[in-house]
Amino acid sequence: MSMKIDSLIRKRVDEPPGVDEATPSLWKGVSPQQWADWRWQMTHRLSTVEDFAQIIDLTADEIAGLSAPGRFRVDVTPYFASLMDPTDPNCPIRRQVIPTNAELVPFEAEMFDSLGEDAHSPVPGLVHRYPDRVLMLVTTQCASYCRFCTRSRIVGDPHATFNSADFERQLDYIAATPEIRDVLISGGDPLTLPQPLLERLLRRLSEIPHVEVIRIGTRVPVFLPQRITEELVAMLARYHPLWMNIHFNHPREITPEVCVALARLANAGIPLGSQTVLMAGINDCPNVIMSLMHELVRNRVRPYYLYQCDLVHGAGHFRTPVAKGLEIMESLRGHTSGFAIPTFVIDAPDGGGKVPVLPNYLLSMSDTKVIVRNYEGFVTAYTQPPQYAGHDPESCLYCQARHAESGQKGIAGLLSGDVRRVAPEGWDRAHSHLE
Ligand SMILES: *Cc1c(COP(=O)(O)O)cnc(C)c1O
Repeated sequence: MSMKIDSLIRKRVDEPPGVDEATPSLWKGVSPQQWADWRWQMTHRLSTVEDFAQIIDLTADEIAGLSAPGRFRVDVTPYFASLMDPTDPNCPIRRQVIPTNAELVPFEAEMFDSLGEDAHSPVPGLVHRYPDRVLMLVTTQCASYCRFCTRSRIVGDPHATFNSADFERQLDYIAATPEIRDVLISGGDPLTLPQPLLERLLRRLSEIPHVEVIRIGTRVPVFLPQRITEELVAMLARYHPLWMNIHFNHPREITPEVCVALARLANAGIPLGSQTVLMAGINDCPNVIMSLMHELVRNRVRPYYLYQCDLVHGAGHFRTPVAKGLEIMESLRGHTSGFAIPTFVIDAPDGGGKVPVLPNYLLSMSDTKVIVRNYEGFVTAYTQPPQYAGHDPESCLYCQARHAESGQKGIAGLLSGDVRRVAPEGWDRAHSHLE
C-alpha cells in the first residue's frame, strides 16, 4: 500500500514548473535558476485572487475568503503553490494556505491568546512557561502563512516585528535566568530572518553559559526548501548542539526539494523533529498520518508532536474531536516503528501547556500483577518483583543536587515527597469551618 502512495507523491512533484507544457502562464519563462532561488520565491509569493486564479480553479468560497476585509495575511511561495491540485478544492496543500468563508466564522470556544502566552511573557517576544526552557519569538514573518496559525494574533504584520532593542531585552532575561537551559527560537519563522541577524542571535545565545541547547522551530523547509542552502546549513552547524523541529502536515509536502533540504540539515548533524497539527479534511486519517510519519523517518526526521488543533480564531473548521487523535495513536503504536510515532498532545488552554494523551494500555493491577493489553488486543499479566529495595534518594547524588535546588515540582513533587499536596486556589477557605 505505502509503496503506491510513495510513488504517487514522487510523481506529483517530479515535474517542477517552468519546464513543461503544464506550467501555468504565471510561471512561463521562469528559469530553473530563478525557481531554485529562495529570494525569487519570496518576492514572487501569491496573495490575491488574481494571483491564485492563474494557477488554480478558485471556488466562490475561496474568492470570498481571499477578498474578506481584515482576513489573516495570505502569502504563498510559488513553490508551495505549485503543489496545489488546481481542480480539487479539498486539496490538503490548498486548504492549509488559501482562506475560505469558514475561517471568518467565530466558534464558541475560541480564544484570543488560546495558549495563555501573553501572561507568561516576561519581556516582549519571550514566553517562559516551563521552568528550564523558554520560547523566543524572533520575528512575526513567515515564508507562507498557515490558515490555522496558532499565533495569528501577532504573526503576519510586517510593521509589528521584533527589533534589536527587543532582542537585547530577550537575551538579557535569558542571561539573567540560570534555570533556562534550552532556548526554542520560533516566531513567525526564524529561518526568514536575514542570515547575519539569525547568526548574531545564535552566537549570543551560545555565549550564555547556562544555555545548553538551542532549538529552531520552522516551516521554511516545507514552504521554501530552496532557503536551506549549503551556506545556511554551514552557519547553523557552528552552533551545536542545535536541534530543529519542522512543521509538516501532509505526505504531499515531502517533495524531492524537501528531501534535499532535510538531507542537508541531517548531514550537518542537526537532529530533526516534526510537529504536525491534526486537522479535519487535511490529515484526520490514520493512513495519511502513517504515510507522513514513514516519509519523515526515511528522511531522518523523528516525529515529535501531533497537536490537537488549538482554540484559535480561524481554525474552528479544522478542529477534530480529540477521539480522532486517539484513534490515530492506536493505529500507529505496534503497527509501525516506535521511532515513527509522535506524542499526541493537547496544548491546554489558559497556559496549561502541552498535555500528552494516549489510549489506555494498562487495564488493571494488583500488588503482584499488572494487566496490560497490546495493539492487537492481546491481554496479559506482567508479574511485579516480589521485593524491591527502592531507590534511595539519600545516597543518590542526582537526587541530592535536585533537593538542594528546591526539589521536584508538581505531580512529580508529590511522588518524591518534595510537595505535600497540590490544591486549587481557595481550597482551604472552601473547606474550613473554623470561621
Ligand atoms: C511547546 C513549548 C515549549 C517546548 O516544549 P517541549 O515539550 O519541551 O517541546 C516551551 N515553551 C512554550 C511556551 C511552548 O509552547
